[in-house]
Amino acid sequence: MKKHNFSAGPSILPRVVLEQASKAILNFNNLDLSLIEISHRSADFVAVMEKAQQLTLNLLGLENKGYSVLFLQGGASLEFLMVPYNLMKENGKAAYIDTGVWSSKAIKEAKLLGNVETVASSKDKNYSYIPKNFSIPQDAEYVHCTSNNTIFGTQIKTFPKTDMPLVCDMSSDIFSRVLDFSQFDLIYAGAQKNMGPAGTTLVVVKDEILGKTGRTIPSMLDYQVHINSESMYNTPSVFAVYVSMLTLQWLKDLGGLAAIEKMNNAKAKLLYDEIDTNPNFKGTAAIEDRSHMNVTFLIEDTEKAASFDKLCKEAGISGIKGHRSVGGYRASIYNAMPLESVQALVDIMKKI
Ligand SMILES: *Cc1c(COP(=O)(O)O)cnc(C)c1O
Repeated sequence: MKKHNFSAGPSILPRVVLEQASKAILNFNNLDLSLIEISHRSADFVAVMEKAQQLTLNLLGLENKGYSVLFLQGGASLEFLMVPYNLMKENGKAAYIDTGVWSSKAIKEAKLLGNVETVASSKDKNYSYIPKNFSIPQDAEYVHCTSNNTIFGTQIKTFPKTDMPLVCDMSSDIFSRVLDFSQFDLIYAGAQKNMGPAGTTLVVVKDEILGKTGRTIPSMLDYQVHINSESMYNTPSVFAVYVSMLTLQWLKDLGGLAAIEKMNNAKAKLLYDEIDTNPNFKGTAAIEDRSHMNVTFLIEDTEKAASFDKLCKEAGISGIKGHRSVGGYRASIYNAMPLESVQALVDIMKKI
């Protein structure tokens, strides 16, 4: 049976990418060798890494603007620590915007290395909105935000204006919409939400912000070490980088961020319109801050919930259980999710 995969992560990838990746596992570039059994320093794999880096800059509109692209390991969770290691002076200070579980985990790691000022938080209402109108202390060394809150279903639409380096965790909405990406000095994203399989983390960093802390940074945590080695200081996660590259190529062929944003907006509208007009359902996020990637909603009547769950299962709808901290449902409608799958979910909602 065809499944409609609404998983929050690891999550849906384009079918054609999975087919290409399957072939490369058995026979990569007609080498009669598998992608995952050749040297990462072979010309064939170096070309994959370079292509992935080039597609990243191209799609984000950051070519020739002084940014480096890395495909690291340790997940977005390791970036929570690498960011302060590389950007915060000893006993320095950083400003963080707390919009959910992932932001607070980032704050926890930064506190190991210096002073963290949480300049705004939406914790008071279980992170159901994006805080606005806050001020950023002038003595901070960088500002950190989370563009899309995967668990709570909120998304930043307007980013803080600041002269300080702006750092953003874009794990769950990278490559999903058009933004002026040059407003960010460092972007990071675990691949497994909207870019590829688990196992690699994309980091896009403006070179000029590095090397200013005076800290001794362990090699594996030092962005400059990775940049100097063209993202191959140690063995990269070859499969995850390859599949990410294929997904980025798929996205470029589709028309890039402008094209995917249009499709993502249409999917989000279809689902939110049903949530707002169907009396059985209620959205959990503030309307103006709603995520176009993770749609969180509740069903008020528990008896109806049981029949909704049953109908979803019968229709092959998978992965819509909400995170325990919000409850209800979460439909993740990342780039690779077709409109027809969202329609299949909406059709079930109409039957309740
Ligand atoms: C999933 C997620 C993370 C954690 O990613 P890992 O790769 O598992 O470390 C961090 N931030 C956001 C916004 C996420 O959605």
